[in-house]
Amino acid sequence: MKAEKNNIFSSFDEIVQKTEKEKILNQKGVTFWLTGLSGSGKTTIGALLEKKLIKNNIITALLDGDNIRVGISNNLSFSDSDRNENIRRISEVSKLFNFCGIVSINCFVSPFKASRKQAKEIIGENSFFEIFIDTPLSECEKRDVKGLYKKARTGEIKNFTGITSPFEAPENPAIRISTLNKSIEENVEELFNFVMPKIKLANDRL
Ligand code: ADP
Repeated sequence: MKAEKNNIFSSFDEIVQKTEKEKILNQKGVTFWLTGLSGSGKTTIGALLEKKLIKNNIITALLDGDNIRVGISNNLSFSDSDRNENIRRISEVSKLFNFCGIVSINCFVSPFKASRKQAKEIIGENSFFEIFIDTPLSECEKRDVKGLYKKARTGEIKNFTGITSPFEAPENPAIRISTLNKSIEENVEELFNFVMPKIKLANDRL
């Protein structure tokens, strides 16, 4: 019989490893981090990407402002420091999903380079892929899906990314998806083709 332990944490070799869980799911637990201005297309593309992955038997988690800001981050504002804290929490959540072998699709403006860098550090650089949903501000403002740009212009909303708060575009994203003059389907297809090889196990059965 094993000696009784006072330590509540199991030793490293007793913890079920990520790779064992990935084997069961036949996929890699990685994070695709979609960054871009409000209205650039992150949620639209991310949600359709998820549908396509599910059709291909990939288990995913879709994280976006709707499920994070009302839940785990419901005490945070849009100040610079709270935005950073929001990204840190999302990163930790994604890491937990990834550790279970689940693919995390994260749709967040995440405007600051430093917090995306921190996300990469938390999640791990081999599991983190920065996807730049690149839509010019003028186009996002024209779409104004939620009427937020109008409110930002009149001052009703403060600290609005692209208007009164900066968006630091990724310099070296894993992939840049340009939505201007492209159909949603074309963008989703392009991203799907990029993500699939990252999800496949080395000797996969996909
Ligand atoms: P975000 O999540 O980045 O704030 P949304 O996905 O909520 O953006 O909104 C993007 C809007 O842009 C949607 O109304 C979508 O229909 C529209 N749109 C037009 N063309 C594209 C495209 N090629 N890719 C993604 N979205 C597009």
